[in-house]
Formats: sequence, C-alpha cells, structure tokens
Amino acid sequence: MTMTDIISITLENEMDLVLAHKRSMKVAEKIGLTVATQTAFATAVAEVARTVIDHTNMGNLQLAISGSHPRFSLNAVIVFGPIAELKKDDEGFFYAQKLVPEFSFETRDGSSVIEMAMGIPRSLRMDALKIAALKAFFLTEEPLNAYEEIKNRKNFLSKVTSEQELEIKHEKFINEKKSEFISIASHEIKTPITILKAYTQMLVKNHDNFDPKINSIVDKLDQQTTKLTTLVQQLMDVSQMENGTMTYNREDMAFNAFMKDIVDVLTQAHATHPIVLNLGADTHVSIDKLRMEQVITNLLGNAAKYSPPGTSINVDTKIENNFAIVSVSDEGIGMSPETLGLIFEKFYRNKEVMTTHPGLGMGLYITSKIVVDHGGKIWAESTDGKGSIFHISIPRK
Ligand code: ADP
Repeated sequence: MTMTDIISITLENEMDLVLAHKRSMKVAEKIGLTVATQTAFATAVAEVARTVIDHTNMGNLQLAISGSHPRFSLNAVIVFGPIAELKKDDEGFFYAQKLVPEFSFETRDGSSVIEMAMGIPRSLRMDALKIAALKAFFLTEEPLNAYEEIKNRKNFLSKVTSEQELEIKHEKFINEKKSEFISIASHEIKTPITILKAYTQMLVKNHDNFDPKINSIVDKLDQQTTKLTTLVQQLMDVSQMENGTMTYNREDMAFNAFMKDIVDVLTQAHATHPIVLNLGADTHVSIDKLRMEQVITNLLGNAAKYSPPGTSINVDTKIENNFAIVSVSDEGIGMSPETLGLIFEKFYRNKEVMTTHPGLGMGLYITSKIVVDHGGKIWAESTDGKGSIFHISIPRK
C-alpha cells in the first residue's frame, strides 16, 4: 500500500495540539470530506495528540493519504516514545476510537505507533494527481499563526543542520579513506624503490668496471631513483601530518657543526651550483636531526631547482633574539608577491613552474610544519626574476 505524506507536525506542547486539530480539519476539507467527517477526524487526532503531549514532548503526527485506485483513505500516524502507562484503552485513545473507523496501536522499532484511517468516498474521485496537488498545497501554504511560522523555521534549520552534519561526516570519511590510501600506497611503493636504489648504488660504486656510456645511464638511473625516493618520502610525510602521527626525536647539538655536515653533503648532490656557506656565531639547538636535514635539503633543493645552473646559492647562519637563523638565497627565477603568499600551502605550485619544473608542491608545506613543530618560523622574500631568499628560525637551547 502506498502512503503519501501531506503534512508532518511535531507534538511538543499545547500549541501543537491546536495546530494538529486545525491542520487535520484543513486536509479533510481540501479532500472534500463532509464537515461532519472533517470534525470527527480532527477531533480524533486532537484527542490522541492531547494524550501524547500530556505524557511526552517527543511525539510526531503525520497526515497522509494511503491506498490505490479506487480505494483511498486519509490517515493520521502518531509516533511517540514507548510510554509504559499508555495503553490502547487510555481515555484519550478510547474517544478517538469511537470517532474513526480504523484505529490501531502497536510498537514498532521501540516506538509506539497509532494509526487512524478514514475512508475517502469514491465519489470524491481521489487519484495520484489530486494527492500530488494536495501535498503541493500544504507545502506552500502560509503558516496558520506565528507559532507555526517559528516552528517551521526551527524545523527547516534543524533539517539543514542535520544535512550539513551528514555532509561533514561523509567528507571526513572520504578524507580518512584518502589519507589511508596515500599512506598504504606510499609504503608499498617505498619498498621496491629502496631496493632499486640499493642496486643503482652498487652499480655507481662499480663505475670502473663499465663502459662510460653505461656509467652515464647508471648515473641517470641513480639520480631518478633519488628523486622518486624523495617524492615517496614526501607523500608519507604529508599522510603522517594529516593523521597527526608525525613524531620527532629531538637531541641537543651544536648548530654550526650540524649545518656544515648537511651543506657538505648537499654541495656534492648539487654540483650544478656553487654553494657558499657563511657560518655566524654558534649555538646549541634541540632538533630532530633527520627532520631538520630534510628542511635544509628542501630549501637548498628548491634554490637549485629554481635557479639557472652556475649561479650561486648562499647559506648564512646567525643568532638573533634567542633564535638560530638560517637564510638560503638564490639568483633564480624569483616569485611574484601573490605566489609568495601561497607557497607554504599544501600542494601549492606556481602555474608558471608547473610545466617547466617537476614537483608535487609538498616540499615547503612539510618544511614549514617541521620548523613550526620545532618552535620556529619560516618566511621568504623574493624579487620576480632576480632570486629568492628563504629564512628559518629555530629556538636556541
Ligand atoms: P615544489 O617545488 O614541488 O613545487 P614546494 O612546496 O617546494 O613544491 O614549493 C612550492 C612553490 O614555491 C613552487 O612551485 C615554486 O613556485 C615556489 N618556490 C619554492 N622555492 C622557490 C625558489 N627558491 N625560487 C622560486 N620559487 C620557489
């Protein structure tokens, strides 16, 4: 049996009783039932509604048309929380049963449900079209009084809120799945790459045994494997950052010695650019060595990537207000002020470099997170076409 809802009213207080009565009258009138039938139906609904409101403020009334051609009926379905003392022969229910031909009281899914029905005479020629028109009429009908207006608004707002809550939940779920996928995928990719890297390193170490042509291929293989390793590591880092599982193993160390070691390694890795290290006054810092190496690697890597071969890269350190400061400057392509404002965002890549320089836009996002997690700051200055300078600060020990 199909049932089309026409109107739904929550039963919370005496005011709703008036609404339930008036709305039941109006629906019955619109269908074309006689005044006597309208009154009987509306009184039955009001009797049940009164009893429900007396015991609980969590009831709901639904006026609906059920049936199929040619037998239709007008229904009132009242649902409320299970109330032990309310029985089918309660006074209010007793009168309602006298007024409508069909009355049922049952428990469904832990709720009490009262259904009342009134047959619609065939002479009224009820059909699907008329039912749809009736539904549309009550959808657009003006509220009966200020109370109903407020109630409608409240219902609308709570509907919107619950829809939004659902949407947020859904979005959260998708995001969690995405992070989980990135985390699993990057781990899976990392294993074969680590093995590849070990083999290419073996080949690099055996340069003397090979033809120079083969050696140049081996070197390219090794460089590309290193790039892949970095990319996969970045993916793993971003997924850790998203999950809040990034951890740091901080140890106390002399800052200048740390800087010298890492810049030495990077000077070999970026043979295309002369790298000049100017160490200022020394200090102790408490840092996660591997993570901080990653920061310097990223800044120097970007300086080399975004500047023409042969131009120098300067790395300066100094102490300012209880912070060790590192500045990495290049003579490269630089950035516009707009780009400068966006570079620390996740996955941000300048449009102009998209096609010319490889990358995923994760480097500076990860770098800034590591620096901030160490209690420091990161910032940059740049002149379009002239070069850029990136600074980080790390608290002194
Ligand atoms: P990626 O280098 O993979 O694009 P990053 O997060 O490291 O990702 O950098 C984000 C963007 O910042 C780059 O796409 C580039 O536009 C800009 N950028 C970073 N470093 C420099 C630099 N030294 N010179 C010019 N632009 C830079």
